[in-house]
Amino acid sequence: MDSNCLFCKIGAKQIPAKLVYEDDDLFAFEDISPQAPTHILICPRKHFAALQDAHQDDAALLGKLQLVAAKLATERDLLAGYRTVFNNGSGAGQSVFHLHLHLLGGRHFRWPPG
Ligand code: AMP
Ligand code: ZN
Repeated sequence: MDSNCLFCKIGAKQIPAKLVYEDDDLFAFEDISPQAPTHILICPRKHFAALQDAHQDDAALLGKLQLVAAKLATERDLLAGYRTVFNNGSGAGQSVFHLHLHLLGGRHFRWPPG
């Protein structure tokens, strides 16, 4: 855990959040500023700033982020169209530097993204 990291603190329940899923590897909570009717952030408990900081040993963990997103999307009836997104780096809009997968659903999404 990085003691200066907002999402590490949420995972450790030191800062409140609307948790929707957790297990030994991951936790997921509702985004405080939702950009769609469903907007959930899925985080590894292990602190990585961004995707490029993960290594081969983390492959299963990265896959599990996507599988949990698919499970939540299915449970929430979002299969007509949902999006999973990693923003990596400030140029891509990353503002919290603990890797997190956005799960967005419940509205139409345009392509390309902004
Ligand atoms: P990103 O911009 O990709 O780094 O995503 C960070 C996300 O974290 C944004 O969508 C924020 O709205 C969200 N966020 C920031 N602080 C909190 C918080 N305390 N609880 C829940 N979501 C948060
Ligand atoms: Zn962290």
